[in-house]
Amino acid sequence: MKVKVISVLEDNYMYLVIEENTREAIAVDATVPKRLLEIVKKEEVKLTTILTTHHHWDHSRGNEELVQLCPGLRVYGADERIGALTHKLTHNQELKFGAICVRCLLTPGHTLGHMCYFMWEDNCPDAPAVFSGTWRCFFVLHTPRSQGDALFIGGCGRLLEGTAEQMYRSLNETLGTLPKETKVFCGHEHTVRNLKFALKVEPDNETVKTKLAWAKARDDDDIPTVPSTLGEEFHYNPFLRVVNNLYVGITYRIYTKEFWEGHLQLGGVRGFL
Ligand SMILES: [Zn+2]
Ligand SMILES: [Zn+2]
Repeated sequence: MKVKVISVLEDNYMYLVIEENTREAIAVDATVPKRLLEIVKKEEVKLTTILTTHHHWDHSRGNEELVQLCPGLRVYGADERIGALTHKLTHNQELKFGAICVRCLLTPGHTLGHMCYFMWEDNCPDAPAVFSGTWRCFFVLHTPRSQGDALFIGGCGRLLEGTAEQMYRSLNETLGTLPKETKVFCGHEHTVRNLKFALKVEPDNETVKTKLAWAKARDDDDIPTVPSTLGEEFHYNPFLRVVNNLYVGITYRIYTKEFWEGHLQLGGVRGFL
């Protein structure tokens, strides 16, 4: 299984996953059709499938065009609002593409129909991968881009439709229990700002400091910070670290909306998961 990381729009990622024996390709969040098809051509693969994490335009806007350009293309997702959807998925549904196995993990919070895709190959030494859509390092901060403080545009990562409890379960139970070596491919490049926030939450966390310095260097060179691994995330991601009660006592009660929103207000940062 080969994963092509493709930077698109302001800070989004789309991915092309290639089954190296059959040369079949699966796109995750096919946002920019022309760009995607150029890479499909260059890699000499056949695009058969789109997996969409959620219906927001910056993750699904290319679906309709791609379906027209590639007859027979299958579009999977868990939300009927996803454009050109051909196959609606349910939690824990499994798909197979040649040697690639996919388990679909419903992770409500940002949107109710948010699906993450856990992929692996049987009898393969490579680590599995999870395409986590909006869960950038499992905590995406979006700052307002226009129209003042109160209104968030794009809103990826915000607690838009789900409850705090759903968010907690999605992060710490559904995703957090995957194998620690799982590579995390997320939908946005927000690592530097996320880690700056993590440092405000845990100013003495050396792992956060080290990762932040690394991410800044990558940012300077315009190199993606994906993938991380789930094991790494447990060392610096505040929203996974709550499960161990590592810093819960500092501020807010766990399981409540105030907890999640409260943490995101720390240091004056306006943002949501
Ligand atoms: Zn997004
Ligand atoms: Zn979104």
